[in-house]
Amino acid sequence: MGMFDWVDYECECPVCGAKVTGFQTKELDCDMDTVTPQQALFFYSICSGCGAWLVAQYVEPVAAHIHIEASKKNGDRVLKNYAFKPAKPL
Ligand SMILES: [Zn+2]
Repeated sequence: MGMFDWVDYECECPVCGAKVTGFQTKELDCDMDTVTPQQALFFYSICSGCGAWLVAQYVEPVAAHIHIEASKKNGDRVLKNYAFKPAKPL
């Protein structure tokens, strides 16, 4: 029994542009499995470049994209949407 599942997603930080990986979710079974953004729907990571906290949401169905809300250390927030093409239909 783990604490979360990994999410197969990475993006550039909306704040500083660094590559952000290691997204996690608690929306599913939390068995340390790797799931897709479509399965997780909500997931999060932290930028190793600037320390911003990134909360990501998979948005469907009109035009699939990933909505990122990045919280800087000083509390400011940066919002950004990234286009997302699912690897395969569910
Ligand atoms: Zn950053």
